[in-house]
Amino acid sequence: MQAQNLRYTQFHLTNPIPDENHIENVFEQFITEYKEFRVNVPIGCITDKCSKKQKERIDLSVFCGAGGYLYLYLRIYEFVKGLSPDMQQRCTKGLTDQEFSEFYNPETALQLALRQYQALQAQIKKDTDISFFMSNSTIYLLGAELFYYMKDKENFKKCTMEALINFGTIVAEPEKQEQELLYGIPGYLYTLLRLHKKYSNEQDPYQLDLSSHIHTLCQIICKFSGKGVMKCDFHNRSYFGAAHGILGVIQMLLLSYEQCKEYFHLKDEQGLLEMLDSIQKTLDQLIKLYYQNGNIPSSAQNLNNLKLYQFCHGIPGAIAPLLKAYQIFNKQDYLDAAIHMSENLYKFGMIKKGFGLCHGIPGNSYGFMQLYRLMGNEKHRKYAYQFLQYKKNVYVYNEIKNFPFNDRYMIGVSDQPFSLMIGSVGDMCAMMDFIDYKGMPGYEI
Ligand SMILES: [Zn+2]
Repeated sequence: MQAQNLRYTQFHLTNPIPDENHIENVFEQFITEYKEFRVNVPIGCITDKCSKKQKERIDLSVFCGAGGYLYLYLRIYEFVKGLSPDMQQRCTKGLTDQEFSEFYNPETALQLALRQYQALQAQIKKDTDISFFMSNSTIYLLGAELFYYMKDKENFKKCTMEALINFGTIVAEPEKQEQELLYGIPGYLYTLLRLHKKYSNEQDPYQLDLSSHIHTLCQIICKFSGKGVMKCDFHNRSYFGAAHGILGVIQMLLLSYEQCKEYFHLKDEQGLLEMLDSIQKTLDQLIKLYYQNGNIPSSAQNLNNLKLYQFCHGIPGAIAPLLKAYQIFNKQDYLDAAIHMSENLYKFGMIKKGFGLCHGIPGNSYGFMQLYRLMGNEKHRKYAYQFLQYKKNVYVYNEIKNFPFNDRYMIGVSDQPFSLMIGSVGDMCAMMDFIDYKGMPGYEI
């Protein structure tokens, strides 16, 4: 009744987008994307479903290939399993009664994941890539997750052993590897962190403690990035961002320290202190650059390139490591910088590239979600909501569909429209995270 009376007594709208619909609308958008995905990507697909002007090819990577489809089914399984009955009742839009019971049966997603895994596993060839985003071995990492859920200990063991093979390759000749997240050692460290987080506290036969592996890789990474202000060189440039640069490296080091703190202290106190000191010096330097410029430039060689507001370059990838550093070092500057960045991200982060996590609007929504989770400020949740509804905003979507990028095969379409990092699988992950947060794929645990 009271709400109805307000209609006649209050002259302003309380909120043009009522709060209570956010979850429902994001879920509906997720279902729309998921139905579109299922129509276009058959179960067991092993190719990158690319835009029409390219030739489809076999690609098992989770970055822009078929590994991302497996990632999606497992994420949906987690989502369905973890959603409270209350939330399930709110998340129904876009589903018929029959679709509802199918979707909320965890077995459905698990069976899809199994079929997708089997198709991919048959195609795995030894590759030279090592990172979570690029390596074929990520299929085994996801396989371990699948068989853990299925309580299949034989296959779980097999998959974890396969996923660990790259560790030996890296330790044998670390200088042969890249040093950034997308292709390099920090990208493989993410694979280990994911395994360690999920299984270090498990009972046998699912128990897996990787503290020593993680520590070894951190030592290697620190050796390459140097003491004091750290550097991350890739193709003759010192990049600052998340995908190719030092922010991605720092995020992995902080996650490692957070997960294996006691082991790090026990093993090499001096080395640890140096690592933590270098991380802080580097973040302080990046924050300075940010306040001077309103963004973090792409690289030390290109300090004037400030136009990129996307996960791979610029501030979007800085918010997660700054918040982690704030929690670890209890330094207010890091939180203040992250909050300040979020306002600039809101202003400049609705990028015309549009789709996906790596350089897209849903990827930028993660910065807001990360802040919201820590600080609980509704404003950040609303920012994230607006970013996730980008296809519903006629003005925004029209710009995206018509803006010509010269590195894109077709105007207005992602090169791999159904992939994890540049297509709708990533969008769907962000939407599920809006409803029940698990963390940005490849960047958070
Ligand atoms: Zn990118």
